[in-house]
Amino acid sequence: MTAGVRDQRERPLGVLRLSLTARCNLACPYCLPDGQEPPGLLSLEQRLAVIAAAVALGVRSLRLTGGEPLLHPGLEALISAAARLRRPPDATGTGLDEIALTSNGALLSAERARALRAAGLDRLTLSLDGASGQAVAAMAGLAGGAAAGEALLAKVLDAIAHARAAGFDPARGQLKLNAVIQRGRNDDQLLPLADLARQQGVELRLIEFMDVGNRNGWRPEAVLSAAEMVERIGARWPLEPLGRPAHGTAGRWRYRDGGGAGPGGGGADLAVVASVSEPFCGDCNRLRVTADGIAYTCLFATPGSGLDLRPRLAPGAPTDALREALANLWRRRSDRWSEERQAAWASGAPAATRHAEMAYLGG
Ligand code: SAM
Repeated sequence: MTAGVRDQRERPLGVLRLSLTARCNLACPYCLPDGQEPPGLLSLEQRLAVIAAAVALGVRSLRLTGGEPLLHPGLEALISAAARLRRPPDATGTGLDEIALTSNGALLSAERARALRAAGLDRLTLSLDGASGQAVAAMAGLAGGAAAGEALLAKVLDAIAHARAAGFDPARGQLKLNAVIQRGRNDDQLLPLADLARQQGVELRLIEFMDVGNRNGWRPEAVLSAAEMVERIGARWPLEPLGRPAHGTAGRWRYRDGGGAGPGGGGADLAVVASVSEPFCGDCNRLRVTADGIAYTCLFATPGSGLDLRPRLAPGAPTDALREALANLWRRRSDRWSEERQAAWASGAPAATRHAEMAYLGG
């Protein structure tokens, strides 16, 4: 019996973040994809086998990511097939409760939004790191300056409208905006972004700049803490805390004046992901599998430390080899990298600095 597998710290497996590609159509300096796809990408059938094995071990939530997942031509087919692993509402036992996607939204046409919804996508999170052309261009690594940033901003606003028209309801937590905030780079966008999200009626999820990868020039001084983000926004629009749900990544807040996503089923108005200042390794339930089939149990893992699933996905491999490999990986897991970084800082010791790249691991 492997469902409900737990790691060395008694953390259950609950979420699978599956990266579909390491390529991206943007070049955000805080992520900096190198444009290279790793060799040996998994096929649709192999990805389904990974999802099915993870579901058998207790995964309830599937998040498709990258790189930019809208670049993947088989995205809708994968979602339709994964939707067959869904658990009926209120049923006990294994099965998926939700299929989610993280995207920068630049390629989300009205037709694509409808196709994703029809395929069975439940939730969509779009990334946008500024509310002005200049800021968007700088954060997305666009060469064309403010004009290019304005064009991308317009595309993301269109993407929000297309997603809403396709049935993704922000008041029910089905459509959200992600923004990475870097001190001294786009922290002047905090209030404009909050204003934009309030006008659009979507939850804004503010993410601390994380030390994922080795190319983004991360340094502690560039981190604006979640507490400071909340303080600055709360000074303009008073906020009330809703807490961080078990196994969740974000502390959630509601605007006291009723602005924001609104009081629908389970959504928040504002959320902050404090991975650096207030690590939440203690109840992390996320497994990541890269586009080429390497399984990692931590976003801050060192390159090469993942488990290669491909031998277990090869033709003729025993049917339960994959599930057993994932179960053993999870049972052995004891990582708590973000907490260790904090402890190292507190003791003045340098934290390990080699991390796999975000665009490869899947954010
Ligand atoms: N391309 C898609 C997108 O832009 O949403 C999906 C992949 S991206 C890696 C997923 C999320 O990770 C995005 O919201 C992005 O802003 C965030 N991200 C990437 N690098 C980060 C970093 N160093 N610190 C914090 N968040 C980061």
